[in-house]
Amino acid sequence: MSVLYDRVALIGLGLIAGSMAHAMRRAGLAGEIVGTARSAETRAIAEEIGLVDRVTETAAEAVEGADLIVLAVPVGAMAAVAEDIAPHLKPGATITDVGSVKAAVVDAVAPHVPDGVHFVPGHPLAGTEHSGPQSGFAELFDHRWTILVPLEGADTDAVARLRALWEGMGAFVDEMDMDRHDLVLAVTSHAPHLIAYTMVGVADDLRRVTDSEVVKYSAAGFRDFTRIAASDPTMWRDVFLTNKEATLEILGRFTEELFALQRAIRTGDGDQLFDYFTRTREIRRGIIEAGQDTDAPNFGRAKGG
Ligand code: NAP
Repeated sequence: MSVLYDRVALIGLGLIAGSMAHAMRRAGLAGEIVGTARSAETRAIAEEIGLVDRVTETAAEAVEGADLIVLAVPVGAMAAVAEDIAPHLKPGATITDVGSVKAAVVDAVAPHVPDGVHFVPGHPLAGTEHSGPQSGFAELFDHRWTILVPLEGADTDAVARLRALWEGMGAFVDEMDMDRHDLVLAVTSHAPHLIAYTMVGVADDLRRVTDSEVVKYSAAGFRDFTRIAASDPTMWRDVFLTNKEATLEILGRFTEELFALQRAIRTGDGDQLFDYFTRTREIRRGIIEAGQDTDAPNFGRAKGG
């Protein structure tokens, strides 16, 4: 594949930016990749492992002369970073982000974007519970969706080039408006994370009663909640603070359904439970048919793993 941007600046050098660096290199999509992070420690690690071609001390230096700037910091940090880099952006450059919430990021970043710079928000729907400069890998985005959220009057060339970058990194690309994105993600990601956090919290309370049995027998289902609940606390705090309306809407519906199932259990309504679980099983089939997960038993884990 050919170079799409002569110079890419990654602001933040964690899981997502690191994976982008690996994936861009795999396909030769960037002439030079420059990166920076908040702490000297992260910058030193990035330098040591050669995560990017050049590490700079400040974000202002990183964006100097860059054709694409990627904001890959927690959602709550986007406004400050955008304000900081704004005076240093090259005219004609594209600025994008990878934040898990879109409306709040647009509110935070758009006011700082100077005329002549194209802002095209984005969100790769791929991640792991790991973070930091050593957690990234080239395959993270392969066959996963990235959603671009072009704003009204967006430059079509800038959007097309960014789409080509994500496709070059292995992703499928869709476009959506920001409010729809935030609602869809509240259902598919944000509410499930909150439920996992809650379930693990409840089990932790119970541990006093059950001692180590919660850990010992975790493969019965609980283990998958614990993986999700190990996700980065800063990132997820920011997600809930910034996608408040949509998450509360979905949690309201969740609570109603939970009460209905609770009642079915109490009244011994086996038909209702059976019908409900039959419907949910269909959803799992749809995800597998769409190639978004494996059909292998136990999520393809090695036996006992
Ligand atoms: P990460 O591994 O924790 O990395 C975050 C990076 O941002 C670090 O380099 C960190 O620098 C830097 N940073 C943190 N606070 C900052 C601040 N106040 N100012 C400047 N830099 C700051 O996080 P990540 O998982 O890559 O997430 C980055 C973005 O991607 C977030 O907006 C998140 O919502 C989004 N996202 C995450 C996932 C996922 O599953 N992880 C998936 C899709 C999208 P230091 O290391 O020096 O602190």
